[in-house]
This record gives sequence, structure tokens and C-alpha cells, in this order.
Amino acid sequence: MSKIGFIGLGNMGSPMSTNLIKAGHELKVFDLIPEHVETIAAVGGAAVPTAGEAARDVDYVITMLPAGRHVRDVYLSSGGVLESAPETAILIDCSTIDVATAREVADRCRQSGRRMLDAPVSGGVSGAEAASLTFMVGGSEVTFKEAYPILDAMGKNIIHAGGPGNGQAAKMCNNLILAISMIGTSEAFVLAEQLGLDHQKLFDISSTASGQSWALTSYCPVPGPVPGSPANRNYQAGFTAAMMLKDLKLAEEAVRAYQVSSPLGAEATSLYSAFVDQGHSEMDFSGIIKFIRGDLH
Ligand code: NAD
Repeated sequence: MSKIGFIGLGNMGSPMSTNLIKAGHELKVFDLIPEHVETIAAVGGAAVPTAGEAARDVDYVITMLPAGRHVRDVYLSSGGVLESAPETAILIDCSTIDVATAREVADRCRQSGRRMLDAPVSGGVSGAEAASLTFMVGGSEVTFKEAYPILDAMGKNIIHAGGPGNGQAAKMCNNLILAISMIGTSEAFVLAEQLGLDHQKLFDISSTASGQSWALTSYCPVPGPVPGSPANRNYQAGFTAAMMLKDLKLAEEAVRAYQVSSPLGAEATSLYSAFVDQGHSEMDFSGIIKFIRGDLH
């Protein structure tokens, strides 16, 4: 069993750290919000007062933080993870952040003789609770193999995506596909309504034809065809529109930096921005169908 410092105990970090404790690992836990620390201390984590303290004398450090600036701060600031973690420790950032920051922090770790992986996840809070997350991992293959059992205690599909930052690249590209396919699927259902074509009929046909996608068959944006999808619970998230917008903005930054053409990515970002600006940031991202249908005015 390993000693692990876990930093960032929010919606995702809380169930992820709990699963590591259940798997028998020894955890030191830290978050800026004391109540979040208390929750994990109550299930067996050892509360510590700083991020540096969580990183001291452990085999692994895992971070699950909101964005790139928090990751840079926790790893690189004075008294932070990099100054405190043993040289033998593997540092794993599971947050979803921009590729440039992921590579910069990994590089600083490498310069200090420490190994780092970027390992963003998909699967949401329910996947974190069920220890069925997908991890997309960037960093050296040897380090990936060594860290595999730790990630395996929190997830189901654990995939090495290449060198530093490639986990973040994979997450961002995946969510670009997802946003665009959810919008396309939603537009098709709204058009079908106007044409007098049943939701279920469109689903039955497209789910076995060339319109098939995860957005349709696992996360259908209308109630009925996929009973577990958020559409059946009035678009209660799941994966919030705010989170999708965050990921689209990360993709947009990369599109700009690498001068890639992504007209539908730009359109998806603008649609989700308008949706969020109208006060729907906490609605599931599949609720975009209500926006497309014009239900939200
Ligand atoms: P959250 O806001 O619930 O949790 C983040 C936690 O980090 C908070 O408890 C906050 O207090 C803590 N924190 C912030 N700065 C800190 C610091 N300097 N030191 C210590 N703790 C600090 O967010 P979340 O939903 O758990 O998401 C975490 C990451 O996972 C994000 O990058 C998000 O994009 C990604 N993600 C979330 C989901 C989801 O469904 N929630 C799904 C996939 C990926």
C-alpha cells in the first residue's frame, strides 16, 4: 500500500480520495476549504494544514484542482508540492487544465528530478464515486506503468496518451467532439419535432445508422430513449454546461495557439457561452437542446 498526498477535495477529489482510502492506501489530505478536509478525515484521511505538508514523505501526490492557475500555484509556489515532495515521488495532476500549463509544470518537475503525469478524467462525479473514471495520461510510459495501480483504484479505463501534456490534449479533443456532437444531435431532434418524427423513431433509426454517437446512444438529449440520461431528470447535471464551456475554451486557446481551423468548435463555444450567460451554468450540458429549441426565454 502507498502513502499518498491528495490535494483538492471538491466534487471529484472527494470521492476519488475516498476510493483510495477504501483500497487501503494511507492518505494525507488538503483543501483550502476546511469542511472538505473534514469530510475526508472522517473516512480515514489524515488532515494536513498545507499542500506542501500533503506532499512531504509520500510515494504519490495527486491533485484535483479547478484550473491551470491553481495547479501552477500548488506545484510551483514557495512551500508547494515541488519543494516538499520527495524526489522519488510520482506527481499526478488529475485536474482538467490547458496543455501549455501542464507541460510547463511537468517540465519544472523534470528539472527538479521528479516525475509527473497529467491524468485528467472523464466520467463525472458518478464515475468518481463508482471508481469507473477514464484516465487520459500524459508522461513517460515507465512512470505511467508504475502509477497504474493507483489510478486503477479510482478508474476503469486508464490510457497512456503519450508524453507530457498529452492527457490534457486528449481530454480537450474528446470534449470538442462531444460538444459538437451534442449540438448536432440536439438540432436533429428539434428538427424532427417540427417534421412530425417521433423522438423514439429518430433514436431507433439513427442509433443503428450513420448518425450514431455517444451523445445520442448514451446521453440522449430528449427524455425517453436512454432512461439514464439527464434529459429524464430535467437536465440535472451530470456534466454541467459551465464545465463544458471551460473545456471548449481550453480547446479554443489551443486552436488559436496552433492556428488550427475549427469553425464548429468556435460555434460550439459561442452557443455554450450564450447558454451559460443566460443563467444555465449548472444545468447539464445536454440541456443545450432547450436553448436550441428556444425553450429558455
Ligand atoms: P471543485 O470546484 O468541486 O473542487 C476543486 C477543489 O479544489 C475545491 O474543493 C477547492 O477548494 C480546491 N482548491 C482550489 N484551489 C486550491 C488550492 N490552492 N489548494 C488546495 N485546494 C484548492 O471542482 P471539481 O468538480 O472537483 O473539478 C476538479 C477538476 O476536475 C476540474 O479541473 C474539472 O474541470 C475536472 N473535472 C470535473 C468533472 C465534474 O463532473 N465535476 C468531470 C471531469 C473533470
